[in-house]
Amino acid sequence: MSEAPVIGVLALQGDVREHLTALASAGAVAGAVRRPEELAEVDGLVLPGGESTTISKLAVLFGLMEPLRARVRAGMPVYGTCAGMIMLADKILDPRSGQETVGGIDMIVRRNAFGRQNESFEAAVDVEGVAGGPVEGVFIRAPWVESVGAGAEVLAEHDGHIVAVRQGNALATSFHPELTGDHRVHGLFVEMVHAWRTADSL
Ligand code: GLN
Repeated sequence: MSEAPVIGVLALQGDVREHLTALASAGAVAGAVRRPEELAEVDGLVLPGGESTTISKLAVLFGLMEPLRARVRAGMPVYGTCAGMIMLADKILDPRSGQETVGGIDMIVRRNAFGRQNESFEAAVDVEGVAGGPVEGVFIRAPWVESVGAGAEVLAEHDGHIVAVRQGNALATSFHPELTGDHRVHGLFVEMVHAWRTADSL
């Protein structure tokens, strides 16, 4: 790999620090993104877990929603975990009032589908494109994907429900690899960013 890609973590709310650590361990230069000028400087972006309604409202308030949509449309690699997966859905089944998404993946997501906070669980999940056996999936009030459109590829299922999806340069998981110390999913994302940056500079 040549120079390490610069990957931002949207730092409005949620588990930002854990993603910064995971990205750095996976070989990226990682930094928090709160302003449009910071967004403009990154090669890729992580949308963390947290609370998608809050993240959505803060993104509008901070003037980030349109710049985020524009960069995702332009092909910037983006990875959403849990609330971040919800942010990448073209459609949410049960949005709270005023809740918007960035979109980018042709999928319908159901919020809190796996149950409440006290029904959070861990499970081994086989993810297409991640070598070396299943990853430990941490599911916290996690969404699942009800259905995907033709352009989206299902990367993993748990209990018959879709929990990881990729469409082009957009990746989303219902679970939180940033909480496990196993950085293979972040490694996959760092590779996506690297490939995009290399192709872009040709
Ligand atoms: N249920 C949360 C939401 O709707 C997501 C939970 C999480 O990110 N751990 O945003």
